[in-house]
Amino acid sequence: MGGLHHGHSQLIQAAKDSESNTPSVVLVSVFVNPLQFGPAEDFNDYPRDLDHDIELAAFSGANAIWIPEINQIFPKGTNSHFKIKVPKDLQAHLCGSLRPEHFDGVATVILRLLALVKPTTLFLGEKDWQQFVIVRHLINDLGLAVKLRGIATFRDADGLPYSTRNSYLNKSERNQALALPRALKKATTDFQLGKAIDIQKIRTFLEKEGLGVEYLEAVDPFLLKPISPTKKLCLLAAAVRCGKARLIDHTFLMNRKPIVAIDGPAGAGKSTVTRAFAKKLGLLYMDTGAMYRAVTWLIKQKGISLENSKSISELLKSIKLELTTSTSGEQNVLINSENVSDLIRSPEVTLLVSQVASQSVVREALTAQQKSMGVKGGIVAEGRDIGTTVFPEAELKVFLTASTTERAKRRTLDLKEQGFDIPNFEDIEAQIKERDRIDSTRKISPLVKAEDATELITDGMSIEEVIETLIDLFRMRIPEEIWPSPNQ
Ligand code: C5P
Repeated sequence: MGGLHHGHSQLIQAAKDSESNTPSVVLVSVFVNPLQFGPAEDFNDYPRDLDHDIELAAFSGANAIWIPEINQIFPKGTNSHFKIKVPKDLQAHLCGSLRPEHFDGVATVILRLLALVKPTTLFLGEKDWQQFVIVRHLINDLGLAVKLRGIATFRDADGLPYSTRNSYLNKSERNQALALPRALKKATTDFQLGKAIDIQKIRTFLEKEGLGVEYLEAVDPFLLKPISPTKKLCLLAAAVRCGKARLIDHTFLMNRKPIVAIDGPAGAGKSTVTRAFAKKLGLLYMDTGAMYRAVTWLIKQKGISLENSKSISELLKSIKLELTTSTSGEQNVLINSENVSDLIRSPEVTLLVSQVASQSVVREALTAQQKSMGVKGGIVAEGRDIGTTVFPEAELKVFLTASTTERAKRRTLDLKEQGFDIPNFEDIEAQIKERDRIDSTRKISPLVKAEDATELITDGMSIEEVIETLIDLFRMRIPEEIWPSPNQ
């Protein structure tokens, strides 16, 4: 809407630096949209300084700035124009509950701007989180061919998020306004320390500091419905009046780093894409299949019969199993300090691993170890039962699969690359089917899609496309503010 500031500058720079935009052409639109102002709101007073906007956009790396007139956007006038109606659920709380038709106006103008500009990617700040979620629904529900990228709220040194309306504040009001980011920051830290969040108490504090609280609500960040801040990711958001300004701010409450669970049958390409996905997002990669393989390798090495669960149980009590990540991002598997990363990929281990993995003693021991490795989060775990048993509370669950023929093709390529003899194609396919059968029919933690997992069938998709889809899915569940994308 113009009145550009450093927050906008971040959006422009992110667009400029975006990998997905090559060659990048960054267009900034400045349009004070009459449809999103209520009758008693500040449409006429809204800060407009086009010279400053042009300068800031150019300085931040924009290639062009577009400042249309109202009649270019709504040629028949705002009253005769086709309008978007945002679903009630999405605007029943937060700003939506107090600003009737505001988000209808936002959605209408964004759809119009997208139709006129036809961008590949829309960069939008996460600061107006409700707006961000509504625009995501608009894009997904209407199947618009544009990618949405959120940019974390950018704050001034004193903690106040950049906003055009901050210019309404005089010095003492600005000091007063700081009570809001301070209270939200304290709530974030308290939550991380396991303390209960008392919304009424925060509200009273803000009022004591002289702010007029319009709302202070804890909601599910994606459904925008009230929830009480417990273990699940929660948005604590507020709008306050300070002098002439109406300010909004929020925080996300989460008591550990994010967890991603990727499950699926053998040969679906999970390892390759999961590893790359983890690296791109700066998450730790946990290959749980490698742990089952390492145990299988040791059982074989020690000459223990697969039926002898007593000896296997004894063995499990005495072993030290470690997953380490090298500086180049390679995962290494160490069993009793011996690096068995290559040995566990042999066809002999592959043939036996599902039988070993179906034993309760093995599953109990490895599941417990995996859970404790993931306590703090910040990981992507890959396996068969991650979303159902190991991390049922994962923020993102993906069931990655492909047809047996596609998987047999990939397995053949893998074996070739690793220098192993290649059995004939039918045998590989039969082996994959047999592993699927054992994995999905075993009594404990069988391979099944978790109810809340997204199924991704990767036939015909390139590795890059799968990785990109995973990143998009992640971004639909984890705001940049919680886990910024380091490589984008
Ligand atoms: O993924 P990968 O092929 O390396 O896994 C080897 C085997 O380990 C699987 O076929 C399955 O039997 C077992 N496994 C499991 N649960 C996991 C991961 C792997 O049962 N979470």
